[in-house]
Amino acid sequence: MTHYDLVIIGTGSGNSILDPRFADWRVAIIEKGVFGGTCLNVGCIPTKMFVYPADIARAISTSDPLGVDAELHEVRWDEVRDRIFGRIDPIASGGKDYRATHADNANVTLYDGTARFTGERALEVTPSDDGAPESLTADRIVLAAGSRPVIPEVEGIEDVDYHTSDTVMRIDKLPASVTILGSGYIAAEFAHVFSAFGVDVTMIARSNALLRAHDLDVSTRFTELATERWDVRTQRTLVGARKTTEGATLDLLTKDGESESVTSELLLIAVGRTPNADMLDAEAGGIATIEGRIDVDEYQRTSVDGVYALGDVSSQYQLKHVANHEARVVQHNLLHPDDPVASDHRFVPQAVFTSPQIASVGLTEQAARSRGLRFVTALQDYGGVAYGWAMEDTTGFVKLLADPATGQLLGAHIIGPQAPTVIQPLIQAMSFGLDARSMARGQYWIHPAMPEVVENALLQLELD
Ligand SMILES: Cc1cc2nc3c(=O)[nH]c(=O)nc-3n(C[C@H](O)[C@H](O)[C@H](O)COP(=O)(O)OP(=O)(O)OC[C@H]3O[C@@H](n4cnc5c(N)ncnc54)[C@H](O)[C@@H]3O)c2cc1C
Repeated sequence: MTHYDLVIIGTGSGNSILDPRFADWRVAIIEKGVFGGTCLNVGCIPTKMFVYPADIARAISTSDPLGVDAELHEVRWDEVRDRIFGRIDPIASGGKDYRATHADNANVTLYDGTARFTGERALEVTPSDDGAPESLTADRIVLAAGSRPVIPEVEGIEDVDYHTSDTVMRIDKLPASVTILGSGYIAAEFAHVFSAFGVDVTMIARSNALLRAHDLDVSTRFTELATERWDVRTQRTLVGARKTTEGATLDLLTKDGESESVTSELLLIAVGRTPNADMLDAEAGGIATIEGRIDVDEYQRTSVDGVYALGDVSSQYQLKHVANHEARVVQHNLLHPDDPVASDHRFVPQAVFTSPQIASVGLTEQAARSRGLRFVTALQDYGGVAYGWAMEDTTGFVKLLADPATGQLLGAHIIGPQAPTVIQPLIQAMSFGLDARSMARGQYWIHPAMPEVVENALLQLELD
């Protein structure tokens, strides 16, 4: 039995906790998979590195309205893929080497294996190489074990060579067709990438719209645009899956109970992610869970003294910027347990790097309504500002919700070019309490830049 001052489970955001202030702590880091976690290896970063060339490919095929005749000859998938992982893989292995061998980490022991609780602040680590399990105890433990893709339990699924986001970015060659099961942001991003690269895309959604967690206007607009571009089938129930000579076939029921089948060369399952709390045997450690997540208070503390959790394993947001924020909170609270800081989850933004891009922060109109809040809305089309004219944009908009009495923004929802960048001043305004009128008129807005779409939306809000 080896005892540590601190054990960290998971090397995504968990790996960012250690700095020179922990130099005289005896620390263990346990990782069962690839060092660096989801965002670096199979999440945010590689997906966005695929989205960028996809955007370029799509710009070529949509240049006609601008008077530019261009044609996409070929996407060299192996070069696209190898550029991305040729950059990412060395970062992951370099990070691992740094923790395992660098003098800065003389106090750190790296375990390549799977951790699970056997008692309060007591763990067993099963090595990845099938070696003998080791027992550890610690004064403090950080659970940063992330989440994993959900695979629907449906007849035949295990016989199909399906992909998830964990595997699909490393395929050998582009398929002719892909069925994407799911309608959230991961599904929407891969649909854009594959279709921009010339693959026929079918999207299967259980509900009546794509990106349903977004503001209804955004979700409705995106569903309309996606339906023009892809074979989008909403309100479908998955009843079975089969491996066929063409690839994979899904058996579905429509909302009217009619049977239909969809076949494509590749099946990508993107129906959501579940926290890895179950794999930790949290209960054996006395750690409470809620809806499958590790239950934490605002200081990221679990129900067991000295045990903290952060990121996807405990967060309902499942976003990297949230995991990073919570890692900074945990870092502080480990060092200053008597003067803890709380996580700030007031204005958590999110983006979907599909086409068109989408970003949002704060309340949707439906949430504001269900809370019974008094609010006003404004909707400004990209097509109504000069940069939108330049781009010939006809589908993008900024939607704002504000409290008419104070001018405080309650929510911002953008669908259109560069939405994740365009939204940032609105996140800043909400975070620092800047009211809509001061924001609109208290600064210059570069003319004729894209953020004028935000300025015009702010000016449209009918405040008291
Ligand atoms: C395709 C995709 C695209 C995404 N795009 C974005 C985006 O654009 N923006 C954004 O904000 N977020 C995005 N995300 C979400 C983001 O990647 C996650 O929210 C974030 O990486 C979570 O970080 P984490 O530290 O909580 O967990 P992770 O980074 O998942 O780290 C957890 C680590 O713990 C290890 N582990 C788990 N259980 C054990 C155990 N029992 N023992 C030892 N080790 C264990 C895992 O192997 C893993 O390495 C995306 C996710 C996916 C899948």
